[in-house]
This record gives sequence, C-alpha cells and structure tokens, in this order.
Amino acid sequence: MTTPSKRLLLFTGKLGYQTRSFEESALKLGVELVYVTDRCHQLEDPWGDRAIAVHFENPEVAAYTVMESLRGQNVDGVLALGDRPAVAAAYAARGLGISYNHPAAVEACRNKLRMREIFRDAGLRVPWFRNFPIHPTPEPSLLGISYPCVLKPLSLSASQGVMRANSREEFLTAAARVRRLLESPEIRSTRELNLDQMLVEGYIPGREVAVEGLVSDGTLRVLAIFDKPDPLEGPYFEETIYVTPSRLLDAEQHAIEQCARDAARALGISQGPIHAEFRINKDGVWPLELAPRPIGGLCARALRFFLGSEKEPIGLEELLMRHALEFPGSDSQREQFAAGVMMIPVPKSGVLEAVTGEDAARAVPGVTDLLVTARLHDYIAAWPEGSSYLGFLFARANDPEEVEQAIRKAHEKLAFTIAPRLPVEHPAARRMTSEGN
Ligand code: ADP
Repeated sequence: MTTPSKRLLLFTGKLGYQTRSFEESALKLGVELVYVTDRCHQLEDPWGDRAIAVHFENPEVAAYTVMESLRGQNVDGVLALGDRPAVAAAYAARGLGISYNHPAAVEACRNKLRMREIFRDAGLRVPWFRNFPIHPTPEPSLLGISYPCVLKPLSLSASQGVMRANSREEFLTAAARVRRLLESPEIRSTRELNLDQMLVEGYIPGREVAVEGLVSDGTLRVLAIFDKPDPLEGPYFEETIYVTPSRLLDAEQHAIEQCARDAARALGISQGPIHAEFRINKDGVWPLELAPRPIGGLCARALRFFLGSEKEPIGLEELLMRHALEFPGSDSQREQFAAGVMMIPVPKSGVLEAVTGEDAARAVPGVTDLLVTARLHDYIAAWPEGSSYLGFLFARANDPEEVEQAIRKAHEKLAFTIAPRLPVEHPAARRMTSEGN
C-alpha cells in the first residue's frame, strides 16, 4: 500500500508565478495542492476538482464553504498568500483542527488602527496615532495634530493611499485625496472593511527594513532582513529596492529581530510565514506593520535556501510548503549570495505606451531577471493612488553593495513611455474617468 499523499490548502487571491512555483514544489514533494481562491475562472485545471471557489470578503462563509467541500477528506496544512486570503485560512484551519493562526490575530493584522493599539499596549514603540472618519475632513488645528504626520487608509496595502503631510495645508490636501481614493469605485468594489475611516500618525524618521520570517508554535525564525536603500521620506511611499543580507550593524539587526518577535507575539501570530516592516533610528526599532503571509509573489524570487541534502537551492514556496506540512528542511538557511529586487516605480500615472532597454538591463552583470508586468496600452496609476509596479528587476552577487549597484544600473537602462490618458469627449464620462487620478 502506498502512503496517501499529504494535502495542503492554498488560499490565494492571485494566480501566477507564485502559485506555479507551489505547483512545482507539490509535484516534487508528492503533495496534493488544493486551491481556495476567488479566481477559479483563471485556473488551468481541466478536471475542475482541485479548486474551491470562495469570496474572501466574507471569511467565515469562505471557511464554511471550504469545510463543506472537503467533508471527510484529510487536510494536513494550510497556507495563505495575501492579506485577505489569510483571514479565511485562519477560520478554515480552526474548523478543520489544523494548527494555524487564530482568526482574531489575523484580523487584527488587517486593521492598521488595531495594530497600533496592540503594539502600544504591548509596550512596543508607536508614534502618536488617531483615526478619523473620511467625512467631514478633519480640522487638524482643533485635533492636536503635529507635523510631519502620515495619513493612511485603515485596510489597504502596498502603501496605497499612504501620504506624508508637513503642514496643515498638506494635511488637508492629503485627507481629501485619501477620501477620494476610498470613495472610488475601484476601492469600493473590494468591499474592504473600514473604508469610511483614515488613520493619522506621527512620521517616524529613520531607515526602513523588511523582515521575512517563519513562525513555528509561536517561535519566530527570521529568514531574511531586507534593507531598503532608497530614502523613503514621502510624500508617497511606493517600495523600490530590497537587498539582503542587511548592511546594518549586527546589534541593529538583533534589535530588529527582537522587535519582530515581540510584534508577532503581541499580535498573537503563532504559525506560518510573516512579512513585516520596521524603521530604525536613534530611539530604537519601530514596528510599522506585520502581516501573516509571505512577501508578495514575484519578490519571493529574491530568496533561495540551501537544503543540506540537495545541490540546487530551493525557493521560498518549497520552504513554506515543507513548513506547513512538517516535512524536514523547513529550517534551511538562506543562500550565501546577496540578493535583491527592485519593484520598478511608476514615475507618473498614464497609459504605458512603450518599454525600451530591456535587453541592456538584463545584460548588466549581476542582474538575474527582469519582468515587466504592466501591460502595454493599459492605464497605470502612480502612488499614492496606485498599487501595482511596472515590473521587477532581480540581481544576485557576492555582496549587497554589488546587488544594489547592479539593480540601479539596470534600472537606468530602462525607459518607460507613459502617455496621458486621452481626454474623453462626453462630459459625464469625463467626470467618471477623473476618479482616482
Ligand atoms: P501598507 O500596508 O499599505 O504598506 P504601511 O502602514 O506599512 O501601509 O505604510 C507604507 C509605507 O509608508 C511604510 O513602509 C513606510 O515607508 C511609510 N510609512 C507608513 N507609516 C509611517 C510612519 N508613521 N512614519 C514614517 N513612514 C511611514
């Protein structure tokens, strides 16, 4: 008799590079992968029996659908990619008796106000913070707002709608912009919670890092600290370059690891991958946020791990699968090389008409890959309204300085032609298309 293969539920709103990489790992490890997704129509699944269709905006209903669909079948682990799928995964795991994060802990990570309260109550460093309704526009001089401050939506991600204000005038402009964004049809249709509120908090100066980690029964192992070598001082905060290993002092890195542990514990995140952001300055380490999911799809390609028994490095997806199913090897260390990724920024909103220099960028020594993910002739929004990048540039080298230089050099070779969106003649149509710009 052959041993039945292990079954892993993969909760994901996106299908693409990362899910393909999970499929490859599943094939290699003899794992049966069951998708739980709201994108079933995009799945290449000729038998139609490997995906469970759900709506992530109602996580408890989604979890019930999963349990109904699986009745009587064994499930050995769950993984979630993305913030919304993580909540449904937590409810489903609880119903199926699988060790994962508590739903309340995952839900707290979806609300930037709740997260600040939890960090404050746990004694972690937090700036002053207040939430406001988006209507009427708050009058900062009556509310004890000090500058610089940062305004942000409560539940969006990828820095969408996050803005710095250095004065009352900038505050009022930014608040109106957050309100327009939260009222736009695109955002309304996501049915995110708390779209009627914004958070305002003190600006934290300092250098920023991202931490990728893996939690096992409440114990966090840091897989990588990524430096963000570009100054992220606003007024908008789109990501650019991530490079690991960090060039911060050992003591600073230890302090960041400790803060990541404290933040995960405070939130009650006890199992699986985390992705977190921190700022560090003369006062110490400040947790910006922590999410119970791995780094976004394509960026994960910057991480490779060495499994003692294998010649080729494995990807983050295989590592996470091994961890979720308690297979050996989830304690593998990151490779020796330095690695990095640039999320290629969007210089201005408009229609992407042309991209040149791709071959020259790929030819830069150290560059391992370039993917232009924005589609030609599509409209792309710059930050703060935007949330998707033009593409991703990857590099690998002996040290982080070389990686950073390779990425910068390759980026210089690229040119993106972005044309203004053509004016629409009908006045009513014009009013509609100006939303969200
Ligand atoms: P999101 O979940 O949308 O990424 P964050 O709250 O993490 O939102 O903010 C995105 C980015 O904005 C951060 O990575 C950081 O660069 C910047 N930022 C957010 N809040 C602050 C703050 N209080 N002080 C300084 N920078 C901030």
